[in-house]
Amino acid sequence: MPELPEVETTRRGLAPHLEGRRVTSVTLRRADLRWPIAPEVADLLPGQRIEAVRRRAKYLLLDTHAGSALLHLGMTGSLRVLAADTPVKLHDHVDVALDSGQVMRFNDPRRFGCLLWQPAGEIHPLLEALGPEPLSPEFDGEYLFARSRGRTAPVKSFLMDQRIVVGVGNIYAAESLFRAGISPLRAAGKVARERYQSLALAVKEILDYAITRGGTTLRDFISPDGAPGYFEQELAAYGRGGQPCPRCGRPLKQRSIGQRASVWCGHCQR
Ligand SMILES: [Zn+2]
Repeated sequence: MPELPEVETTRRGLAPHLEGRRVTSVTLRRADLRWPIAPEVADLLPGQRIEAVRRRAKYLLLDTHAGSALLHLGMTGSLRVLAADTPVKLHDHVDVALDSGQVMRFNDPRRFGCLLWQPAGEIHPLLEALGPEPLSPEFDGEYLFARSRGRTAPVKSFLMDQRIVVGVGNIYAAESLFRAGISPLRAAGKVARERYQSLALAVKEILDYAITRGGTTLRDFISPDGAPGYFEQELAAYGRGGQPCPRCGRPLKQRSIGQRASVWCGHCQR
């Protein structure tokens, strides 16, 4: 599944091709993805100038004067910018044609993605209850400390809660907790302030690094320039259960926490 770094990589790949361009037409090859495609996409987007390509959590927003097209890549979605005469392939569901002669093409074999509409001046209900962006200054150790007091849920589940902070998926939660030396099983309310400062820093560093590397390598993800990410080979904990801890050499533990596979070192993470 595309995680925040892949979505940010996609945003950075799309923005130079889309920003400032006018939409000439929208082609929908089916009426629905995960949900019905918002009628405004075909009705209002043509003729609009794309002012900005933004990301909120794992959603992409194409901002125009009339409102914003709101996209999610789901499990298998990808966006490419291509010459308008590029032949359509299987699962190419949506084209947004631009006055540059290019087209932004949305491909999604499993159709867990979505294409919705956020009217100008409003916040879409899907974005309403979301916590801060992990790379924003608002997200820091003090924030995590304050939000976690009294919470008995494991710190890993707390960190993956989108109401607390967006976009810290299973891979990045495992890697951040490993780097900060915090056991994923520890109750969120029992983690000290200084340790949350280490954790917030680890989240930012790991996400930043993953973005510079184009995100994790995922079978179905291809960044806009066609290059896969290279981050997966460098993961310290995620997916390495039973293998030696890169820090102390003891075998990494593996177990399900909040129904998500979790890997950590029982020696280095307390
Ligand atoms: Zn260790």
